[in-house]
Amino acid sequence: MGKVLVIGAGGVGNVAVKKCAQIPEVFDEIMVASRSIEKCEKIKKETKTKIPMRTAKVDADNVKETASLISKFEPEVVINLALPYQDLTIMDACLETGTHYIDTANYEPREEAKFSYSWQWPYDPKFKKAGKMALLGCGFDPGVSNIFCAYAQKHLFDEIKNIDIVDCNAGSHGHPFATNFNPEINIREITQKGKYWEKGKWKEIEPMSMSFDFDYPVAGPKKSYLLFHEELESLVKNIRGLERIRFWMTFSQNYITHLNVIQNLGLNRIDEIEFEGKKIVPLKFLKALLPDPSSLGATYTGKTVIGCVLDGTKNGKRIRKFIYNVCDHAEVYKEVQSQAVSYTAGVPPVIGAMMIMKGLWKGKGVFNVEQLNPDPFMEELNRRGLPWQTVDFKGKLPEG
Ligand code: NDP
Repeated sequence: MGKVLVIGAGGVGNVAVKKCAQIPEVFDEIMVASRSIEKCEKIKKETKTKIPMRTAKVDADNVKETASLISKFEPEVVINLALPYQDLTIMDACLETGTHYIDTANYEPREEAKFSYSWQWPYDPKFKKAGKMALLGCGFDPGVSNIFCAYAQKHLFDEIKNIDIVDCNAGSHGHPFATNFNPEINIREITQKGKYWEKGKWKEIEPMSMSFDFDYPVAGPKKSYLLFHEELESLVKNIRGLERIRFWMTFSQNYITHLNVIQNLGLNRIDEIEFEGKKIVPLKFLKALLPDPSSLGATYTGKTVIGCVLDGTKNGKRIRKFIYNVCDHAEVYKEVQSQAVSYTAGVPPVIGAMMIMKGLWKGKGVFNVEQLNPDPFMEELNRRGLPWQTVDFKGKLPEG
């Protein structure tokens, strides 16, 4: 039992707070802190729980301010659900106060759309010295996708040779164009070059230039595009014998048409431009125009399907398995007034906090989730609204 501090009161933070509030046997006090206090107050108001809840205003870009909040509240764990820009400052604040740290997205500098663990992995000696755990990328993908791979490595395969992570949102929110999580981060991610890993080398392709139809359970065949995604960077290190790993995500033709227009007009630019005597960043301006992802839930219908296709050997025979979760937008709205993309990202860091607070995941230093025992986490996924299934995979995948 202990206290938990959630930083960030957006789509994912809303889910995490409401999920913590359902688990009084682990969390005995919850604080939600963010840049805009009104969003924290709204979440608190909507949360039905016996657990005491507090809210606070914090600028998580400021280490001193964040550390001061942490030392006043004294949580066991800080769950960082602000933006990737705040990862390092929140990690520094956790080190200063001797607190465990969890996030769902790796650090990215504001001025360059480049997400990588290269900034956070070097914190390992510092967290070791502090005797605390920093759990990186504990959302759904990265997060559960890594844990599916760790589970497969532990229980299903002697050796995994190929992994294809597939992510499908077969939902409909009724807006002409909206992103399912923070628009700035989302558009920065998908307009980068695609990248995958094969036979010990990274291979780069033009953005959205490789796609195929994957036949998703429940959702059916959907065009899926190869993207670089952050879990690839850690899984190549932590899955033995791996020869190839790729990540695929579905986008509708409507989404791609909007994205092309955004890019053609330069609305995805992250450098400052001069507009009527003021400096503005076009992508931030675009974010202000787009629907807030946390508001999409009310009208969202359909499902997300996210999973890992694993290809390898067991007892000398080639086997292929598909481990996946299906999440329903409308069901999620009933439970936590959200949508399935925020839900699939917001529940896993709560389970991560439970793993640390119950002593099921122990360790000092910086960890990616696949380095820890997948079994208790997999059990909690089934209990906490993200049930998973494993089936033999009989479908087709593009050759390398
Ligand atoms: P939102 O933009 O909806 O929420 C971000 C929140 O962080 C907002 O409340 C925002 O405050 C707050 N914030 C931003 N800057 C600061 C700051 N300096 N100090 C304090 N609070 C701050 O984003 P999402 O909820 O959609 O995403 C949250 C995180 O989850 C992102 O890092 C995203 O990449 C990650 N994610 C991970 C996924 C996974 O599966 N691994 C999937 C989806 C998302 P304000 O309201 O004032 O702007």
